[in-house]
Amino acid sequence: MVIAIIAILASMLLPALSKAKAKAQQTACLNNLKQIALATRLYAGDHEDWLPPIQAQLPTGNGESTWRAHLYRYVGNTARIYDCPTEKVEVYASAKPPGLNRKPSPWVLGQFTPGEIDIPSGIGAVNVHWMFGGAQPPFGRPAGYENNQCRETMIEAPSLLLLVGDGHSDVFGVWPQDRWWIWKETGGANSVGFNRLAQGDKGAVRHNRRSNYARADGSAGLLDPARIPCDTNACWWSAKNDPH
Ligand SMILES: [Zn+2]
Ligand SMILES: [Zn+2]
Repeated sequence: MVIAIIAILASMLLPALSKAKAKAQQTACLNNLKQIALATRLYAGDHEDWLPPIQAQLPTGNGESTWRAHLYRYVGNTARIYDCPTEKVEVYASAKPPGLNRKPSPWVLGQFTPGEIDIPSGIGAVNVHWMFGGAQPPFGRPAGYENNQCRETMIEAPSLLLLVGDGHSDVFGVWPQDRWWIWKETGGANSVGFNRLAQGDKGAVRHNRRSNYARADGSAGLLDPARIPCDTNACWWSAKNDPH
C-alpha cells in the first residue's frame, strides 16, 4: 500500500520536475540571448553603428574570426553566454572542435586566434539573407566576402529584427565546422519563405517546440518557428522589412 502510494506520488512529481528544469533552461538561454543583444548594441556604439561581422579575416591573415570574438569583451569574456543549456553537442564553452578525439582548446575562446572559428555554439547569429547586393542580414561579412555588413541605421524595425537565436544550423552537414549561424539551406538567398521548421533545424524547436531569439532593440523572446515571417509583408531576418 505504502509503496503504491509512493509510486503514485513519484509519477506525479517527476514530470513536474522535468518541466521545471526545462523552463529553467529556457530562461537561462533567454538571459544569454538578452546579454548578446545588449553586447551587440554596445559594440555598435563603439564602432560607428556597425554591427560585428559574422566572419572576417584575422588581422594577421592566418585564419578567420567569428562574431563571437568581436562581442567577447562585451559579454564579460564569458564563453558560456554563447551556449544554450539544453544543447549537449555544440557547446562553445567546452572549446571542443567537432570530430572524434579532438582535444579542447580553451585558449581560443573569444580570441582572434586560428581555431576559434572551428568551435561550435549552441547559439547562432542570423545570416539568412546573405546575398551580394541584397539587403543586409544583421550579421553580414566585410569586403572580400559578400560585403554586406549591417549598420544600426539600416535597420528598419529594430524591435522585430532577429539578431541571434538558439542555433544548431548545420542541418545537412554541408559546412560541419560552421555551427554558429542561422542560415538558409535552400532556395535563393533573397527568396521568401525561410522557415527553420521546414528546414528541419533542431535548434528551432529546442525549447518545447520553440526557441529563443534576441532582437536588434535589445529585447529577447521565445518564438514559434512556424510564425516567424519571411515574406513581402514582413521579414524578421533582414534589416529591411522586405528584402525579397
Ligand atoms: Zn536555448
Ligand atoms: Zn525573408
